[in-house]
Amino acid sequence: FEPWNDPDEKPLIQFQNVSKRFGDFTAIDDLTIDIFEREFFALLGPSGCGKTTMMRMLAGFEAPTEGKIFLAGQDIAPVPPNQRAVNMMFQSYALFPHLSVWENIAFGLKREGMPRNEINARVDEMLRLTRLEKFARRKPHQISGGQRQRVALARSLAKAPKLLLLDEPLGALDRKLREETQFELMDIQEKTGTTFVIVTHDQEEAMTVASRVAVMDNGQVKQVATPADIYEAPNSVYVADFIGDVNLIEGKATATGKGSYALHWRDGVEPLTVESQNIFSDGQTAHLAIRPEKVTISADRPAKAANAVQGKVLDIAYLGNLSTYHVELPTGDVIKAQTANTRRISRRAYTWEDTVWLSWTASGGILLAN
Ligand code: ATP
Repeated sequence: FEPWNDPDEKPLIQFQNVSKRFGDFTAIDDLTIDIFEREFFALLGPSGCGKTTMMRMLAGFEAPTEGKIFLAGQDIAPVPPNQRAVNMMFQSYALFPHLSVWENIAFGLKREGMPRNEINARVDEMLRLTRLEKFARRKPHQISGGQRQRVALARSLAKAPKLLLLDEPLGALDRKLREETQFELMDIQEKTGTTFVIVTHDQEEAMTVASRVAVMDNGQVKQVATPADIYEAPNSVYVADFIGDVNLIEGKATATGKGSYALHWRDGVEPLTVESQNIFSDGQTAHLAIRPEKVTISADRPAKAANAVQGKVLDIAYLGNLSTYHVELPTGDVIKAQTANTRRISRRAYTWEDTVWLSWTASGGILLAN
């Protein structure tokens, strides 16, 4: 393998207006995206949004009803699954129970008729890559779940595919092992330079491993961007709400200057001040999406805050490094504020029923049309 350098912005996969229908049900709806060489790309979305269907079309187990899929510039429609430079790793791993780890990894290479010395070299390389050297002679039932997962990965990378599809690869692992394995996956992806496409419904997992994330809803891609952009600049209420925790405040926008708006959100309540890149016409419905960590909680009204509202602490969730406060306003709205617990929290700053101020800057949130 060549070591990984910069991602060359060359699309390895192109979905061009791809639709997939099962009877009159549309699982994938006119989808167009590029996935680049050497990318770690995540398909993220709720159950049933079409993630697995996209994978199956790439692998060749399903054909698009409409549109085309290109792999390295070539229409893959006529290429049978076993001749695509694509491999798929399933959640169940599907290891052969009667074969050793070594034989499991070698299986596909033998079937391909690769010369013995090349197989030996290749399997050894895979064992090193996945840190399984010590387990080469063991059978799948003699190793842990995490190790089995690595055998499955080694086996699917042995033939050096251009593209590896991972369908919920870490679903069977417990939380701690899952987190460790995410870093291993990233490391292995980087070392091999293989394009990885991972399917997950776990947003933290997608954000951790992927260089870019596609957020899907009902057969459509809502946004494709880096994890940071998905989190900080979501393009829709759906994406803002799907990724992380968010306060959503709906109102009517009125321009008050270039790129700045007043959001009228409750009768008889001061409008909110918002700076926005997105353009709104006067009176247009807009949603302020503001992350809880952008909301500051204080006992007194802050002197210079662009936005400040008063309320009562309803709930506190202590998360160790963070605490999330649910604060109820006189309007009945509940706003979440999150603080970092950088100091000892034994003297907790605020408690239930405390009257507090919540404040945020004009650019702390993002204004979305829908
Ligand atoms: P999950 O996370 O639950 O696996 P997913 O996002 O991977 O969900 P898909 O498996 O791609 O979703 O399925 C998308 C939709 O297409 C679902 O509503 C599913 O019921 C439907 N579907 C998938 N395969 C078929 C099929 N062979 N025949 C009919 N409907 C199907």
